[in-house]
Amino acid sequence: MRVEGTVQGVGFRPFVYSLASRLGLGGVVGNDVDGVFAEVEGPPGAVRKFLLALENEAPPLARIERITTREILPNGSGAFAIAPSEAGGPRRTLVSADSATCADCLAEMADPADRRFGYPFINCTNCGPRFTIVTDVPYDRPLTTMAGFTMCAPCAAEYHDPADRRFHAQPTCCPACGPALWLAGPGTVVAGTVVAGTGAGEAVRRAAELILAGQVLAVKGLGGWHLAVDACSQQAAAALRGRKHREDKPFAVMVADLAAARLLCELDEAEAALLASQRRPIVLSARRPGAAVADAVAPGNRQLGLMLPYTPLHHLLLAAIGRPLVLTSGNVSDEPIAYRDSDALDRLGGIADAFLGHDRAIHVRADDSVVRALRGREMLMRRSRGYAPEPVRVRWAFRRPVLACGAELKNTFCLAKENHAFLSPHIGDLENAETLRSFTEGIEHFRRLFDIEPRVVAHDLHPEYLSTKYALELEEDGRDVHLAGVQHHHAHIASCLADNGEDGPVIGVAFDGTGFGTDGTIWGGEFLVADLAGFTRGGHLDPVPMPGGAAAIRQPWRMAAAYLDAAGIGAAAAGLDVARRNERLWADVVRLARRGVHSPVTSSAGRLFDAAAAVLGVRDAVNYEGQAAIELEQLAGPDAGGGAGAYRAGIEPGEPFRVRGADLIRAIVADLEKGTAADVIAARFHGGVTGLITEGCELLRERTGLSTVALSGGVFQNLVLLHGTAARLEARGFSVLAHSRVPCNDSGISLGQAVIAAAADRR
Ligand code: ZN
Ligand code: ZN
Ligand code: FE
Repeated sequence: MRVEGTVQGVGFRPFVYSLASRLGLGGVVGNDVDGVFAEVEGPPGAVRKFLLALENEAPPLARIERITTREILPNGSGAFAIAPSEAGGPRRTLVSADSATCADCLAEMADPADRRFGYPFINCTNCGPRFTIVTDVPYDRPLTTMAGFTMCAPCAAEYHDPADRRFHAQPTCCPACGPALWLAGPGTVVAGTVVAGTGAGEAVRRAAELILAGQVLAVKGLGGWHLAVDACSQQAAAALRGRKHREDKPFAVMVADLAAARLLCELDEAEAALLASQRRPIVLSARRPGAAVADAVAPGNRQLGLMLPYTPLHHLLLAAIGRPLVLTSGNVSDEPIAYRDSDALDRLGGIADAFLGHDRAIHVRADDSVVRALRGREMLMRRSRGYAPEPVRVRWAFRRPVLACGAELKNTFCLAKENHAFLSPHIGDLENAETLRSFTEGIEHFRRLFDIEPRVVAHDLHPEYLSTKYALELEEDGRDVHLAGVQHHHAHIASCLADNGEDGPVIGVAFDGTGFGTDGTIWGGEFLVADLAGFTRGGHLDPVPMPGGAAAIRQPWRMAAAYLDAAGIGAAAAGLDVARRNERLWADVVRLARRGVHSPVTSSAGRLFDAAAAVLGVRDAVNYEGQAAIELEQLAGPDAGGGAGAYRAGIEPGEPFRVRGADLIRAIVADLEKGTAADVIAARFHGGVTGLITEGCELLRERTGLSTVALSGGVFQNLVLLHGTAARLEARGFSVLAHSRVPCNDSGISLGQAVIAAAADRR
């Protein structure tokens, strides 16, 4: 038999071995380039039981995609054996994602009688590092960053004992033979301080002291270095912000366990389950009033991003500190997370007071993943550590291997062949040399790991995206590739289709900040009629100028000026606060917009949210992408759309139809003049957007007969909007597809590009 899926490095061979032994079957099990193969022989009843159990009792980290069997002649062997792995040949096996330390390992780590007591690198077949330490396939110790550590006799005995939990656990080790912690600075290096029997060790104890003294500690994690400070210390959190050049984008907080998490956030069952899952993402949830974290951790934010410890070192550190810990990516502002030690010491030297590291190398960079829960369903915001490189399976086959280069912001790439689409971990914004290198090196690593030689290369239509340029250069370099340009919002909708295992056609609502349109203008409030093969633009938000171009993205008040002008409201004359606050430049900006100087027009829904936020006084300038919309969502509150009522936007019924977003801004002004409370206005605005989406979809249903709606684009990270829109559409008889496994924001673009390019390639 052959077992395909994520079946290597997850204890599958020992599982098969013990199953066969229990049933008295002879034969062999092994890893090869396709996954796991096994031959069993014995009484027919036992063989049947074996096949049943193979699927039903598989180990926790295994993801079985397919089991195929055929009959062969028995060779009379009564014994069962595990075959050694062989390298070479085409590689089709799947590398598992990294997994949080399991309960068995935690119990051993806490047991003074255990030889791994207090050992920060304890792991077993059911847990530990995987994807981030794999240098090549098949997954065996010599092809991981554990290659340089020779197992001691007791570890080797466990590794070779089929009855042991560490049987063929590739990263297994102990204080005698495995990696060691080191602590560097300020002014000291404490190396090799972890000794069996000494508990958490000197390095952890000293590191905890530094944190409790308000210092910034760099800590090596699974997919990169973090920066850590005491989450209760305003001074430490503020110092970290200053040194990292991160003004008010929230920091994630690590807490020791679910009980500690519940002290900070109100968690529902789904959120608690996500927090405690083996993937251990950052979970965004509602912050408790008076939650004991410093203001500088998540300034002005009603949510907190929490995570639980996922490495043994995290567990030891949290226990030694005894309070919540800020744990944020080890980087300066928008650069990628540092993962090599030399890089960390170099780039984080100006931020961290001390470094807590170790000598097990990280081979692949992987940031923490970020999720939210909606109606009990997992919604990924950033798909990275713990998820990558698990593939998204499609129902059809990619005819030729595809590389999709993704978008510019929140970039991921996607390599696909047969029926698997492999999305990269989060790369980041392709705006500097370091991120671009992460992108190109990542593509090379994935090509090797999954043995994919792309023949079709999909890219965005925006000529200035570095991902687009990378694709075009492949062709210029004379590589034998077919280029496929894919419109940004079509890619969003296709990504949503692939996420749901659908092919369309659907009504696609793609609402985001920015995407290059087929007419050369900036789109972002799009109603498409789309399947994987193509799309037509059925409708869109009425375009407005972006006065000053990119400046209008950083300064939402400029969008307020443009929208108020489009709404026919002389804001200064009307005495609006937003005009008064920005009095110095207001008239100039309105003039820019009217003349169309440095003012590209856009149908972006993100800019409509920006305008609303500025008019309402939520925010005139943003320090990170989406900040104004996030604060507007929080102001509206989770119950928006209930009794508050909703504004209404008119529709100009052409083909494509145009929705007058300015009507919503006019309604906000009217409510402001009546003295309506800001949270009520925010709720009515959300209701207005929900309403205009529903009306637009009804118009397209009349025109096309389609009644399935796919919702995609970064604007739908707003769960108040997503929830309200899905509920309203369903009430009107639509079926609604939303994202779950892949983010709706631009990090999902690469998957959409891949499936669109493949659809064209199949024709
Ligand atoms: Zn374990
Ligand atoms: Zn050992
Ligand atoms: Fe987008």
